[in-house]
Amino acid sequence: MSRDQYTFVNPAELYSDIEPEKQHMEEPGLDADLTPKADLGEESYRGSGRLTGRKALITGGDSGIGAATAIAFAREGADVAISYLPQEEEDAQRIAGILKEAGVTVAQLPGDLRDPEYCRSLVADTVSALGGIDILVNNGGKQIFQESLADLTDEQFDDTFKTNVYAMFWITKAALPHLPAGASIINTTSIQAYSPSETLVDYASTKATINTFTKALAQQLAPQGIRVNAVAPGPIWTPLQPSDGQPQEKIASFGEETPLGRMGQPAELAPAYVFLASPESSYVAGETLNVNGGMPTP
Ligand code: NAD
Ligand code: MG
Repeated sequence: MSRDQYTFVNPAELYSDIEPEKQHMEEPGLDADLTPKADLGEESYRGSGRLTGRKALITGGDSGIGAATAIAFAREGADVAISYLPQEEEDAQRIAGILKEAGVTVAQLPGDLRDPEYCRSLVADTVSALGGIDILVNNGGKQIFQESLADLTDEQFDDTFKTNVYAMFWITKAALPHLPAGASIINTTSIQAYSPSETLVDYASTKATINTFTKALAQQLAPQGIRVNAVAPGPIWTPLQPSDGQPQEKIASFGEETPLGRMGQPAELAPAYVFLASPESSYVAGETLNVNGGMPTP
């Protein structure tokens, strides 16, 4: 049998042969154009019923970490709705096809997270397509580097906060009346929340906000039986990075600074989301689960 997520391996050697070269894509970038291909767990993720009958909405579910999470959720038995930008239809179609192979209900709901009306309709459309919602993964995000604060426009600052922070607020607020006791909200933050790059002032600030939003809301919702947690990825090979997420010079050595000495793959994030979505993490709330190759965190 080929490798799955339970195969005993040396994590420092796993994926160490995936070495990207300089490349540039227009934002938001497509997994279809990423060279080399990222591993979304298409060939490796093996489900075992951990989310049977659950109903999940995943923003940014077309590519990268969100797509790997969508594949894992579907193989664990959850119906899945994915949100993405209309220009990402190609990636979304491919992922939707993989999800359907798992035999679950799939909804494709394109739109712009910067628009509060879209965010609210996204929740309503998820509920009507899946018959409810009990897992919300706020994962869509924008990351554009700027060498100098002088080059960070009001428009970019606004877009980054709208996409990463406001959308999480709008979607979570709209989802709350539908979430039953036992439901799970999982936000995607970043190592950037506490170890910010000098070129990611706006992005890193949104990620610190996401961490704090998660810890505050977790306390508010715990008495209702709704758990709120976050996943904090380190350097992961996704379209976010070559579409101006980093200066192109940094792409080739991306992730080499981590103790594991390599960048991570989206497939390595998915199990963290599965754990936080599943009742097996029933006593975990307000937590940030770091998946970052071993970089120390507060
Ligand atoms: P990705 O590009 O595959 O996913 C990001 C997704 O966000 C896109 O696919 C897109 O669908 C969505 N998105 C962006 N702007 C949008 C908008 N205006 N409207 C609707 N959707 C929009 O990259 P990824 O790395 O998988 O990113 C997923 C999350 O992981 C993001 O929140 C990102 O900040 C976070 N993250 C990534 C890394 C990394 O190294 N890749 C590290 C830490 C955190
Ligand atoms: Mg995408």
